[in-house]
Amino acid sequence: MSATDLESFRRKTREWLLEHAPKSLFGLRKGRFEGYWGGRNPAPLSPDLRRWFELMVEKGYTAPSWPERYGGAGLAPELARAFEAELIALKLPPPLVGIGLAMTGPTLLEFGTEAQKLEHLPKIARGQIRWCQGYSEPGAGSDLASLSTRAERDGDVFVVNGQKIWTSYADQSDFIFCLVRTDPQAKKHAGITFLLIDMESPGVTARRIQLISGASPFCEVFFEDVRVPVANVVGEVNAGWGVAKALLGYERSMVGESFGSQLAGAENTLVAQAREALDAPTGPLPESALRAAIVEYGMQERAYQLALSRIREAATSGRAPGPESSIAKICGSELKQRRWELACRIAGPQALGWEGPGFDQGELDMTRDWLRTRANTIEGGTSEIQLNIIAKRVLGLPE
Ligand SMILES: Cc1cc2nc3c(=O)[nH]c(=O)nc-3n(C[C@H](O)[C@H](O)[C@H](O)COP(=O)(O)OP(=O)(O)OC[C@H]3O[C@@H](n4cnc5c(N)ncnc54)[C@H](O)[C@@H]3O)c2cc1C
Repeated sequence: MSATDLESFRRKTREWLLEHAPKSLFGLRKGRFEGYWGGRNPAPLSPDLRRWFELMVEKGYTAPSWPERYGGAGLAPELARAFEAELIALKLPPPLVGIGLAMTGPTLLEFGTEAQKLEHLPKIARGQIRWCQGYSEPGAGSDLASLSTRAERDGDVFVVNGQKIWTSYADQSDFIFCLVRTDPQAKKHAGITFLLIDMESPGVTARRIQLISGASPFCEVFFEDVRVPVANVVGEVNAGWGVAKALLGYERSMVGESFGSQLAGAENTLVAQAREALDAPTGPLPESALRAAIVEYGMQERAYQLALSRIREAATSGRAPGPESSIAKICGSELKQRRWELACRIAGPQALGWEGPGFDQGELDMTRDWLRTRANTIEGGTSEIQLNIIAKRVLGLPE
């Protein structure tokens, strides 16, 4: 596609969005906007967000690059990205977010049967089913292939027994994709199968894990004699490791992209914050060490955004993300930590509030945002694991 065609698509998209998106939503995509996850028991939406969501579902724009028969808009990858770029430029919220769109969907498009695609993709695109990820287990985190949740064949079903842990929002999800052991005799990577399980199946229990903050973003999930149709296997039985790795590529790309859009413009925010804290409305910031730290952050963020564009361009063919998604994950998560450490450094003691009168809402949010970034280098595979992947698969270094 020529640059002129792409520019014309962007212009038409912008005009369409300016005409059709509810006026109250422009500028909403910033700060702590959580996004709408849909599901069988969805969170309530304001009338404008509901109208926005329904309009986008109707046009297939919740999943712009998916084929129309699966609920998408059938846009070529570069057009889908241009569409997303326009939403970001206008600070319009994504109409729907979640694991279904970012991970289950692309994995089914790559590995699913036609029946699986027709069953699950339209429900994801319409926000009818919310998904969660059943990978980690108490004895299998970074060494994921050591998992021991087992699935034994009984006619047309697998009977699943075992436990997952750190399953984000399992208590609010309708379906879970799971890695299960189907051949305990095989080598550990060889006996694994990728299975889709309805959370309403008898024998599935999601128990919340309460954090010290009182929040409960993830769960333990228990499976006791859960009967799952064999038709819910994605890919081949005992060949789930390949599917699992592809999904991790999608997860890391999604995480890298979302860090990219969250970090865009953060340098200006930090400068504005520093100007206020140092009472220096114009001219160079009076604290040279802080000035240097913000400039260094800004340069790294720009380099990160350029690396993301290169990764995106490499994927223009529609090819699934490869090990380079680990670069996006590690650089984005570490940069995000640096961004919030700098914000806290500028705010000084005001960044250390948890509750009570001496802090305004922005300061209380800052403390929580900074603490939340500590998990960014763990979730989706730790930084050490990303470095191992980059060393082996990108740089080809010997083990
Ligand atoms: C906010 C959050 C949400 C999550 N959501 C989900 C979810 O929805 N679904 C899900 O399945 N999981 C989820 N997880 C779990 C996450 O994937 C694991 O925490 C992660 O893979 C690390 O596993 P672990 O916690 O068992 O740490 P471990 O594997 O025990 O690692 C401990 C430390 O050892 C290091 N280490 C381990 N192996 C190596 C090695 N070979 N080389 C170098 N260093 C190594 C690690 O880097 C880490 O620093 C979530 C985690 C977080 C924090």
